[in-house]
Amino acid sequence: MSSEHSLRTRAVHAGRDDLTDLGLHAVPIDLSTTYPSRDSRGEAARLDVLGTGEQAPGMPVYARVGNPTVARFEEALAELEGCEAAVAFASGMAALTACLMAGVAAGRRHVVAWRPLYGTSDHLLGSGLLGTTVSWVTSLPEVQAALRDDTAFVIVETPANPTLGEVDLRALADVCGNVPLLVDNTFATPVLQRPVEFGAAIVLHSATKFLGGHSDVLAGVVACKEEHARVLRQMRFVAGSNLHPLSGYLLLRGLSTLPVRMAAASETAAVLAARLATHPAVSRVHYPGLTGGRPSGQLRGGGAILSFEVVGDPHAVIGAVRLITPAVSLGSTDTLLQHPGSLSHHVMAEEDREAAGISERLLRLSVGLEDAEDLWDDLDQALKA
Ligand code: PLP
Repeated sequence: MSSEHSLRTRAVHAGRDDLTDLGLHAVPIDLSTTYPSRDSRGEAARLDVLGTGEQAPGMPVYARVGNPTVARFEEALAELEGCEAAVAFASGMAALTACLMAGVAAGRRHVVAWRPLYGTSDHLLGSGLLGTTVSWVTSLPEVQAALRDDTAFVIVETPANPTLGEVDLRALADVCGNVPLLVDNTFATPVLQRPVEFGAAIVLHSATKFLGGHSDVLAGVVACKEEHARVLRQMRFVAGSNLHPLSGYLLLRGLSTLPVRMAAASETAAVLAARLATHPAVSRVHYPGLTGGRPSGQLRGGGAILSFEVVGDPHAVIGAVRLITPAVSLGSTDTLLQHPGSLSHHVMAEEDREAAGISERLLRLSVGLEDAEDLWDDLDQALKA
């Protein structure tokens, strides 16, 4: 954090510190795709700098190079994650794609991936669509054995989608050595966990989820050192995977309520997880802290996502909820319930899902901001149905 203020305070003010001096209150949304200038030579010189991924003072010349509204979100997210820089993308998958392309461009085509990951991330790595190869791992010795000279990064989600499995980041970073550790921090957000404090080099978010917080923005972001951010900006420039300025605005607004949303939703999720654990229609609940054996001091609270295995038909439960929204995705103000085998992880082969511990009886609940008792009543009646 760049100031003496707490994360909750910085979540409100980061990316907006200059507004009062500018005589503004709401963040300006700059929708320009081009920036006029009569100084072509000057623009050419600036493009030479911007083309290296470095940021230059003044306007970005063209919208694919950058955008001032999006830059405010990037600055804020970098600060909250405790990183030098952040680069925003049109989606979480665009962000992961840029990370892979950066590896390929540097001659590092190999990735070590700790399962489970979000289904489409698993698919992107497993399919080799970008010319990369992957070694799947689920333990530290496997990571050690899988590392190669051409390994671009080690990727992990903790807590993981959809099993909420936790990985000890400090121990993993030690094993990674000089190979960058990429942590998908979508579930925890910087409110509950800042991976760089445990040795991660790259932090990735599907900003579509908690950062936006209202299910109305598709976005991704990578927080890292400025040196790596330059490469990612170059990738974004050639791929055109830029975040729209209106999305940048909504994300910055989302950050200001992130700490209070995470606190409220996590409190409710903990209540629901404890009750589900004793429900006769539920055979197993996955929620950080519900059972022992976790990395200590890493995650500040259990978070707003839980998953549970049902005794009966999971599809019947999805069909029976009335208050809860039966939908994929997560991190919204309303509570979302989905069947990973059918939706978020459907793209994976069934045997890969099994190997990753994703049971066909598993349901994932993203807890929102509704009253805990109302949510419990709905879950209980749906489970009985
Ligand atoms: N990472 C995680 C943990 C996710 O849950 C998702 C999407 O659900 C992604 C990455 C991909 O993000 P997006 O859908 O914004 O492309």
